[in-house]
Amino acid sequence: MAKINNNFNKLPGSYLFSEIARRVAAYSQEHPDRALIRLGIGDVTRPLPAAVTAAMHKAVDEMATAQGFHGYGPEQGYDFLRNAIAQHDYKARGVEIQPDEIFVSDGAKSDCGNIGDIFHRDNVVAVCDPVYPVYVDTNAMAGRAGEYDATVGRWTKLVYMPCVAENGFSPEIPQTPVDLIYLCFPNNPTGAVATREQLKAWVDHANRTGAVILYDSAYEAFITDPAIPHSIFEIDGARTCAIEFRSFSKTAGFTGTRCAYTVIPKELERDGTPLNSLWNRRQCTKFNGVPYVVQRGAEAVYSPEGRAQVKETIQYYLNNAKVIRDGLAAAGLTVSGGENSPYIWARTPDGMGSWDFFDKLLREANVVTTPGAGFGPSGEGYIRLTAFGEADATRQAVERIKVVL
Ligand code: PLP
Repeated sequence: MAKINNNFNKLPGSYLFSEIARRVAAYSQEHPDRALIRLGIGDVTRPLPAAVTAAMHKAVDEMATAQGFHGYGPEQGYDFLRNAIAQHDYKARGVEIQPDEIFVSDGAKSDCGNIGDIFHRDNVVAVCDPVYPVYVDTNAMAGRAGEYDATVGRWTKLVYMPCVAENGFSPEIPQTPVDLIYLCFPNNPTGAVATREQLKAWVDHANRTGAVILYDSAYEAFITDPAIPHSIFEIDGARTCAIEFRSFSKTAGFTGTRCAYTVIPKELERDGTPLNSLWNRRQCTKFNGVPYVVQRGAEAVYSPEGRAQVKETIQYYLNNAKVIRDGLAAAGLTVSGGENSPYIWARTPDGMGSWDFFDKLLREANVVTTPGAGFGPSGEGYIRLTAFGEADATRQAVERIKVVL
């Protein structure tokens, strides 16, 4: 008889966003007259940049001709896009990344989840707490996380790095040996960023111990402070210890269009094997590339018009972030994030539990947020709000929250 991967059965019952959806649906059914404003899930609302849709239209027309038709493309992505990424996302910031170190994919979520394929099951994994749940759940599925202990909300074999107010939401280097270290800056959910010095300490640690840093910079486009690095590869030594994940989702509205990429430098080797080759083998075997039309759309993000349009959209969301941040602070909440990030991390008032505060804001302000506890035990006592909504709705939501508080 076929046996299943029993690690799936160890995953705790409800995925955070399903539980939120359940509570919101139940409330809406009880109160169909109440218009909810959603500052919870991190999906974007602004349309694709005009330069992107124009490029995609053009690519669709090409596909309708015998000469312009594209079938299976290179699994690693078309050269035109890999070159544009190397040029604009790296070289323009003084970082040398070769196009064949870039693997175009259908999402940073898939890449962060799939990267575990190239690592041994026995690696010890370190994650931030709170954390983007994909890192944890995919390691649990691979059998790398041990058992889930519901009493503490943690997996027995994972090493958790608390990111709390006391350490400025910046993880500290673990005291115990770890092999794979997931870092995400600007951070989801806390909105914290990492300084050059902080990243340098991680890179030095990884090079000293042989660990690999899995660096998720899906939100780098929101960095406004010129001193904050956008890429781990801005740090000396990162080429021998880090893999970076990037996405067009939040930068250019590709959440429904799907395009991202992963960078693995040629120098990064473990057990005498280049990880670039392993990932290439993995992708060629399990992935057949991102659609030509989508990659043409992504390429247009780097055109002069595309860049101007992306900048405008990012500014729109950053304005929302400021409205949320300032509004909640004025209402007496302790807030962080939202300056180099679309996420605002707010302490609940009077030590209230994060699900209780979520329910209060849902019922009394008709605003949907995300309870911090859903991202890990150290998220208890916080909620996350996102700046990805409509500007007017965001303003209205903040006014409603102020009234409730
Ligand atoms: N990484 C982080 C930290 C995220 O928050 C998200 C999406 O919310 C992703 C990756 C997923 O990006 P993509 O849409 O490219 O799969």
